[in-house]
Formats: sequence, C-alpha cells, structure tokens
Amino acid sequence: MSRLLVIGCGGVAQVAIQKCAQNKEVFTEMCIASRTVSKCDAMKEKLEKEGFPVKVTTATVNADDAADVSKLIRQYKPDAVLNVALPYQDLAIMDACLECKVDYIDTANYEPEDTDEPVWRTAYEKRCREKGFTAYFDYSYQWAYMDRFKEAGITGLLGTGFDPGVTSVFTAYARKHYFDRIDYIDILDCNGGDHGYAFATNFNPEINLREVSANGSYWEDGHWVETKPMEIKREYDFPEVGMKDMYLLHHEEIEALGRNFPEVKRIRFFMTFGQSYLDHMRCLEDVGMLSTTPIKFEGKEIVPIQFLKALLPDPASLGPRTVGKTNIGCIFRGVKDGKERTIYIYNVCDHQECYKELGSQAISYTTGVPAMIGTALVLRGKWKKPGVYTTDEFDPDPYMDMLNEFGLPWVVDEAPALVD
Ligand code: NDP
Repeated sequence: MSRLLVIGCGGVAQVAIQKCAQNKEVFTEMCIASRTVSKCDAMKEKLEKEGFPVKVTTATVNADDAADVSKLIRQYKPDAVLNVALPYQDLAIMDACLECKVDYIDTANYEPEDTDEPVWRTAYEKRCREKGFTAYFDYSYQWAYMDRFKEAGITGLLGTGFDPGVTSVFTAYARKHYFDRIDYIDILDCNGGDHGYAFATNFNPEINLREVSANGSYWEDGHWVETKPMEIKREYDFPEVGMKDMYLLHHEEIEALGRNFPEVKRIRFFMTFGQSYLDHMRCLEDVGMLSTTPIKFEGKEIVPIQFLKALLPDPASLGPRTVGKTNIGCIFRGVKDGKERTIYIYNVCDHQECYKELGSQAISYTTGVPAMIGTALVLRGKWKKPGVYTTDEFDPDPYMDMLNEFGLPWVVDEAPALVD
C-alpha cells in the first residue's frame, strides 16, 4: 500500500506509470504531475479504462521550482517521488524531497539546462581539469546530498533506468554470484530498431543529442581517458539483433561503477548508431542546431536545440512505427576461484511487443520498467537506506527477479564474444 508522486509524463514516465499500475500490491495510489497536465489526464483515463485498481489523480507542477514541488508534496503526501521529468529538474526535486522528508528516485544524472550559466560553468571547468572528463553531467551534485538525506532519514535512488540502472545491477549481480574480482566491464547498448524516419531520437532529443555529440571517455586504472566524439568504433554481433557498428561514449554509470568497484581495471560503454543518424547529427551540429545558448530570432529569444526538439518526432510517438529489437547488457571479465572467467548478461527487448503491451517503443520501455522496479524496492523497504545511492549499491537479487517478472528477462552467456 503506497502513494507515489510521479513527476513527468513523457515517453519513459508513461511506461513507468503503467508498470506501477500492473504492480498492484505496491502501488495503490498515484498522482501524475507534469508541466502539461493534459498528458497526465490522458494517462489517468487510459489506466481507468483498462480497469487498473490504482487510484490516480493528476496535477500541474513546475519541477524547475523546488517550492512548487514542495507545495504539491505537502498537498498529496506521497511516500516517494519518482522523477521521470528531465535531468535539469533533479536538484529542485531533491530539494523538495529533502524539505518534505520523502524518498526520491530518478533515472538520469543531473545536468543543467543552461551550460553557459557562469557559476555552474566555473565549477564545470574546474571539474574537467581535475577529473579529466568533459560531459555536462556528473554525480557530484547529487552525491553532495548524501549527509542531508541521511539526516532526514530518506533514500535517494539515482539512475534506475536501463543504462544507468539495470547495467549497474547486472554488475552487482555478476560480482555477487559469478566473480571474486571483476577486471573489465564493457557495457553494450544496441538499438536494432527502425522507426522509418531519416532522423529521430528514441528519448528526449535534447538530452539524447547532448550525450551523443559529446566527447567519449572510459575509465582505466583509476582515471578517465577521454576521446573525441565517435573516435572509437567497434563491430559486434548482438544476439537476436545481428552485426552492428557501435561507438564508445561517456556514460554516467561508469563514474559510479569506477568509484564503487575500485578493483575494476577498465570500464567502457558502447552504443550502436546507424550512418544516417550520425550524418544528420553531424550536420545539425555543424550548423549550430545542437547549441543550448539562446539566440535572438525575429525579436524572440530561442534555444536552437529546443527549436530542433519541436521539429523532431516526439519519442513517445515512435511506438507504432518502430520494429526490431534492442539488446543491452554488460560483458564482465574477471576471476572466480582462481580461474579467469567471462560472462555477458543482457536483455533483448522487442519494440513491437512493447507497443502491443503499453503503446510505447522499447527505449522508453527498457527505462520505464526499471524506474518502477527501483521505486517498488524503495517503497517495500528492500532498498530503503537513508542517503543517496546508485543501483549497484544494493542487493541485486530482488531487482533481477523483478526484471524477469515485469517484462525485461535477462540471459547469462558464459562464453560470449569479446570487444577488442
Ligand atoms: P520526455 O521529454 O518524453 O518527457 C519529459 C517529461 O517531463 C515531459 O512530460 C515534460 O513535460 C516533463 N517536464 C519537463 N520539464 C518539466 C518541468 N520543468 N516541470 C514539470 N515537468 C516537466 O523525456 P523522456 O521520457 O524520454 O525521458 C525522461 C527521463 O528519462 C530523462 O531524464 C531521460 O534522461 C531519462 N532516460 C533515462 C534512460 C536510462 O536508461 N537511464 C534512458 C532514456 C531516458 P511536457 O510534456 O510539458 O514536455
């Protein structure tokens, strides 16, 4: 029995909300709040029409404003807040949870909307020099809440999507059941889906394009090695998908895994991209369309990447037209009982199956299901621990069981092909 406040009602949120509704024992009441309340109302109507017993209300909230979020929390009195809005809102929502002493869960690392803001920029440039990676997001802002969350007795569960989220749980599971020591981790994110558009992003375009157009980096022997965007390319034959080109990216779980599993010698993250996606992205970048710096256009201030977002298909609308499968997982190399061992833990998810079940494509599905699972484990007390943690810091077993139960079954391959 619990009351959940969900903030955001986009592609990922719509899956998370429907999965919460399926998990009837845990989620009995839910308030869906977002900037555009009509999306929340449509979701409420869908759940009611499909006969789910969860009691749903909706609200408008400006999640950039901690006071507005606090006001809603005080009114609704939830047991936890699931933030499936954008990473820009993470800190405002964490502040509100702290003020109201309510557990906090999200799927993505904080990054600021305006990367030219002077105070943030100075801290960012210092971090780039000190830590050696230039991504706009890093965990320092959210890890800084550790003591305050502990004092308030509340849990902050960070990054419970697929990657980050499940990939970190796979790591904890591999360490618990398969290895005495892990030496190498390669995280492979393959989307073999085709939506038929020349160019579209599978989740929020702003966040997606920022991530993909940034420098790559990997963790080796306790420090970051940075690469140019798309500098390192490999081919991999993904089970149930086939041969794909993949590129090394910086990704947020590497930071947490590097800290929490210091024995690991190297952690890399690869994502597959088709040539059409890369060509479009390079062209848009060259003409300045990926910029987050506002420009004046016909007397009005616009942010180029936000204008681009308005032109691109809404990721939540890709479901009916996307066919094919995703395969996301981790290859681990290490030692067990004195012998070298390699395993590959992965999930394969079919875009059309996701659409048939929930009306969504697989990228939203593979993020929304783990968002529900992490929230359920916090609410059931299994992952309740005052402070701020990533998903690799808890017992992975109940999470792994729930992945099988709620639509993301996983496979352990004990003789996988390696990435060189
Ligand atoms: P969408 O853009 O589809 O949805 C975002 C939602 O947040 C929208 O409903 C939007 O409202 C709402 N929102 C945005 N700003 C505010 C605000 N200031 N106040 C209130 N609501 C707001 O994004 P996605 O669903 O694709 O992504 C959601 C999150 O999931 C992101 O943080 C993304 O980074 C993360 N993600 C994580 C992954 C993982 O594996 N860990 C993978 C993919 C995504 P409106 O409808 O008005 O625009």
